[in-house]
Amino acid sequence: MKIEAKRIVSIHYKLTDSDGEVIDSSEGQDPLMYLHGANNIIHGLERALEGKVVGDQLNVTIQPEDGYGPVNPDLIQTVPRSAFQNVEKVEPGMKFEASAPGGEPTLVTVERVTQDEVTVNGNHPLAGQVLNFDVSVSDIREASEDEADHGHVH
Ligand code: ZN
Repeated sequence: MKIEAKRIVSIHYKLTDSDGEVIDSSEGQDPLMYLHGANNIIHGLERALEGKVVGDQLNVTIQPEDGYGPVNPDLIQTVPRSAFQNVEKVEPGMKFEASAPGGEPTLVTVERVTQDEVTVNGNHPLAGQVLNFDVSVSDIREASEDEADHGHVH
């Protein structure tokens, strides 16, 4: 059976950045299961997996455009420290939920803190990064009708 739309695929993967640092890995865990052709995983990886079979191993380099997108400078904002008055100590690396201009809740990461101001970044942490995936295909099965309808694995 090949990987194609409306099939549930299980993969083991290791994700490294352009410096070879491991960002994420399924090692020691259950494989990642996703519904192929439903945008469950980043576009570049989904495209590389198309047509593969169980046992296939691949190494894929994914540019930001096919991954988490380029860094959007509009999502990096400096706000007054007083916007965090309910937080005892604001430090770089902390994550907060904020409302995006469209009203959708979005996760922002604190990048810089000064006496009066806090700079937060609402880009995906992997935005702008070239990603390297080492992937092995461990299982492929047909999606159930419900899974295909819902667009995700049950
Ligand atoms: Zn569902």
